Amino acid sequence: MSATEAAEAAPVAPPSTGAPAKGSALETAHAQLAAAVGILGYDDGLHTMLRMPRREMHVAVPLRRDNGTTEVLHGFRVQHNVSLGPGKGGLRYHPDVEIDEVRALAMWMTWKCGVVNLPYGGAKGGVAIDPRQYSKGELERVTRRYTSEIMPMIGPDNDIMAPDMGTDAQTMAWVMDTYSVAKGYTIPAVVTGKPLAVGGSLGRGTATSAGLVHVTAAALADAGVPLEGTTVAIQGFGKVGGHAAEIFAERGAKVVAVSDQYGGIRNDGGLDVKRLMEHVGQTGSVVGFDDADAISNTELLALDVDVLAPSAIEGVLDEHTSGTVRARWVVEGANGPTTAAGDTILAEKGVTVVPDVLANAGGVVVSYFEWVQANQTYWWTEQEIAEKLEDRMHRAYRDVADLARREHLSLRDAAITIGVQRVAEAHQIRGLYP
Ligand code: NAD
Repeated sequence: MSATEAAEAAPVAPPSTGAPAKGSALETAHAQLAAAVGILGYDDGLHTMLRMPRREMHVAVPLRRDNGTTEVLHGFRVQHNVSLGPGKGGLRYHPDVEIDEVRALAMWMTWKCGVVNLPYGGAKGGVAIDPRQYSKGELERVTRRYTSEIMPMIGPDNDIMAPDMGTDAQTMAWVMDTYSVAKGYTIPAVVTGKPLAVGGSLGRGTATSAGLVHVTAAALADAGVPLEGTTVAIQGFGKVGGHAAEIFAERGAKVVAVSDQYGGIRNDGGLDVKRLMEHVGQTGSVVGFDDADAISNTELLALDVDVLAPSAIEGVLDEHTSGTVRARWVVEGANGPTTAAGDTILAEKGVTVVPDVLANAGGVVVSYFEWVQANQTYWWTEQEIAEKLEDRMHRAYRDVADLARREHLSLRDAAITIGVQRVAEAHQIRGLYP
């Protein structure tokens, strides 16, 4: 970077240190782990091992903007745990990305892989950037530079990326290409959630949402309620929420409200999700859809529906909003949408929370299938993938629900306990080096 470019560069946000902020994702993740450790009766040493990320990188990502100026963005990659296998986790582009959030997301990935029994640890990455403010060329340069900065940490055997908020299959193709060019040959298994043309898996794009609907149906069935005719409200209409709306509607549920960062819409008779998809394709938002009334995101959370699926960002069900929830089931499409305080309130109200580490695990399950296929260079049919996904999700739900019933736990405590126990067992069997 030239001196002029450096002078024009935006300041890099410093990494955070110390205890996690109150109500933050990391505080919530720590509280959830502490509850599981209490249930399992582990000592302080093991608790600390399970809490601490194994490795992290903080990187500056200089970007040459289309107008010739240079900006320096801040990026992170965290491997929370690698006891069961390579780190696995998404890459997030969002202006609020900071290290503690990435640590929390990486920790949740560890327990999630444990819950669905995958041979992975948990990882996560992020760049503090609002992707909507940058051109495609700029996003490609950010992605390639970020990838080359974190190159020592990633690889098909040590840390495998996937899309998360603000990134997509194209982003993964750029990561894969940058990594492959550096190594000198094509390595599709370094990322999942990539386009089919470069070794992606059929079914990956809708896997998180399909998994979410499978576990919702299973949770409803345990209460003797059919999915058909159930009313659903979904916050977030991106890769998770949008496809979830489609699949819920296909399976006969009535999607009565959805929202995105610009606002929400409601139609008590059920939204026409196919037409809504076209509207979002044309306008970039659910707002303004002709066959619905406008509502706010806060109003959506308080709707009188059977199922509320927060599928956007962390911390939306907190000590203020949880008290307003009227849904009987909260199914967490997003990672960490419910704070620890929010969780307590929902439990007191008798709301069943199907936790993120179970409800949105379908994405990492099919990511695992994609990685297996890439390693074997042999691709499965869409039907094989759909059947294997459904089987994994049902088995994971059964493990969690059975433990919850046996030990009188919430589904969240049961799920995190299963994830933590699988990781701790691997730690203990492997032993502590040296
Ligand atoms: P996305 O970027 O495709 O979509 C995010 C959606 O949330 C968009 O509709 C956006 O407008 C909306 N949103 C953003 N800020 C909002 C706000 N303040 N209020 C209301 N809506 C807001 O992201 P995604 O991949 O769908 O991820 C959503 C969540 O699901 C994240 O928590 C992510 O970590 C989690 N998740 C994603 C996957 C996956 O496979 N994509 C898998 C597991 C978990």
